[in-house]
Amino acid sequence: MKSYFDCVVIGAGVAGMTSAIYLKRYNINVLLLEKSAPGGQITKTPKVENYPGFTSIDGASLALSIYEQVNNLGIEYRYGNVLKIENKEEKIIYTETEEIHAKAVIIATGRKPRKLGLENENQLVGRGISWCATCDGMFYKDKEVAVVGGGNSALEESLFLSTICKKVHILYRGENLRADLSLQEKVKQISNIEIHYNTIVTKLNEENNVLKEILVLENGAENKLSVDGMFIYIGFEPDTKIFEDLDIKLDNDYIVVNNHMETSLKGIFACGDIIKKDLYQLTTAIGEGSLAAYHVKNYLYENDD
Ligand SMILES: Cc1cc2nc3c(=O)[nH]c(=O)nc-3n(C[C@H](O)[C@H](O)[C@H](O)COP(=O)(O)OP(=O)(O)OC[C@H]3O[C@@H](n4cnc5c(N)ncnc54)[C@H](O)[C@@H]3O)c2cc1C
Repeated sequence: MKSYFDCVVIGAGVAGMTSAIYLKRYNINVLLLEKSAPGGQITKTPKVENYPGFTSIDGASLALSIYEQVNNLGIEYRYGNVLKIENKEEKIIYTETEEIHAKAVIIATGRKPRKLGLENENQLVGRGISWCATCDGMFYKDKEVAVVGGGNSALEESLFLSTICKKVHILYRGENLRADLSLQEKVKQISNIEIHYNTIVTKLNEENNVLKEILVLENGAENKLSVDGMFIYIGFEPDTKIFEDLDIKLDNDYIVVNNHMETSLKGIFACGDIIKKDLYQLTTAIGEGSLAAYHVKNYLYENDD
């Protein structure tokens, strides 16, 4: 099946939905494509407390209200797992069942936190397991938490958590942390941070579906840590499969954009967590979504034939 749009937005997370809302309000013929349920990553967290306008809201409700806006505007929304994009005079987007032609594309496919691969890890997300101390740290005020990882993110977030939590255990599988030395020095001076080297998490024990205890192998010996929260910083994974055939500029698998949200390819824009940037949050993703739409509108006007 073939169809034609002025702009196709790939990914209905907050960034993609925002782009689609702005494009529709610019009266642009837009299609929003999503391979799963709308909402993206934020649907995985039960509490968002740093999104302006809401003291506290669960991620799924926030995503749903943006999706309602998409629906109310009559934006064409389709299920579709994008497998490939071709950058010809027109952009051609291939899903498992469709070939969609567009004058412009916005890639808003986000990213996924890397997991440890433990049995009940998925069920405990938002119930003790988190990937975002900025977002969820306050839920563990005066409690004991673990941070898995030894890079800059793990240590920066440990420093932040140490100002809120009673104790922070850094669990790192290697002998030498990977973070910048200055950061390592800072962490080592904080009295409520304990670094566990050569430590691998082997099991997550829960009580009433909430994380209660972590079993670890520390220097080869079994150990138990009673913690209320565990923050995992072993990296995020942007899905680069759909760009494999596109000669698009990437930096560590993230798409490089300029401040118009333009990628290295004319007519292909990107926004949200898929782009290379400093802060991966709702507010930035939403801002970039609206900017991408604004510049797509200008691009379409300039290239109108
Ligand atoms: C557990 C957790 C808690 C968080 N808490 C907060 C918080 O409290 N405050 C805050 O500001 N931020 C928080 N964040 C970060 C925030 O969720 C993200 O920065 C934001 O949601 C990114 O939005 P996005 O639209 O760029 O990407 P995503 O949310 O990742 O959405 C991308 C969408 O694209 C779809 N997609 C991917 N590939 C394809 C394809 N090939 N074809 C079609 N569709 C595709 C995906 O299914 C997904 O729906 C949290 C993140 C996590 C994981």
